[in-house]
Amino acid sequence: MAKKGQTFFCEICKQKVVVVVEGFGVLVCCGKEMTLVGGKDMMSVWTSVYPTPKNGVHFICEICGQKINVVAETTGILECCGQRMVREEVSGG
Ligand SMILES: [Zn+2]
Ligand SMILES: [Zn+2]
Repeated sequence: MAKKGQTFFCEICKQKVVVVVEGFGVLVCCGKEMTLVGGKDMMSVWTSVYPTPKNGVHFICEICGQKINVVAETTGILECCGQRMVREEVSGG
């Protein structure tokens, strides 16, 4: 299960996401479970390398309510709870 603040990585398309709201679903990309990028040290690096993007993209699972912020977007298909996650453009403000 994903926890808030955790970073997940797709080994196939290299997409990276950060969990904003945790849910009970398993994050899947390209039909494969995403890999947890572990460690608090990693997170401190991440926050400095990837400041909150102005036009961030969020994906939400309508089933478990899990919400993720995509920090490295690819064409990979994100899924949770067996269905595609819903893309949400984050407009300024
Ligand atoms: Zn992928
Ligand atoms: Zn879900």
